[in-house]
Amino acid sequence: MSEAESERCPFCRIAAGTLPSEQVYRDEMVVGFRDLNPQAPVHVLVIPRRHIRGINAPEAEDGAALAAMVRAANQIAREQGVAESGYRLVWNVGPNAGQSVFHLHLHVLGGRRLGWPPG
Ligand code: AMP
Ligand code: ZN
Repeated sequence: MSEAESERCPFCRIAAGTLPSEQVYRDEMVVGFRDLNPQAPVHVLVIPRRHIRGINAPEAEDGAALAAMVRAANQIAREQGVAESGYRLVWNVGPNAGQSVFHLHLHVLGGRRLGWPPG
């Protein structure tokens, strides 16, 4: 992805620090920040620093980033105090799931009873 393209991607900008976000987690591969429009008391998005379009077309080289995202999401759940009460990790794909940002992100939702099936 070119520099110009990543400047147009909001989550590349959050990872680079040029778009403000309320970050709750960071390591060398991923960043976790609070969702602007939270759907639960805890609603954090975990993104890879490197632009990956979505979970529907993972490449072999994405393996380490995907594992880092899942590890970070579980650590965030512990740090946000929802590990015991329970939480949901969500990857939205495509229009019916409401995907609106095309930089891979994993939702960490918790702090209330989450309905099943999801709406
Ligand atoms: P999705 O529907 O899975 O594509 O989710 C995108 C999520 O990103 C939504 O829940 C938005 O509220 C959230 N979002 C979009 N822009 C930002 C931003 N600049 N900072 C934090 N959250 C954002
Ligand atoms: Zn991006």
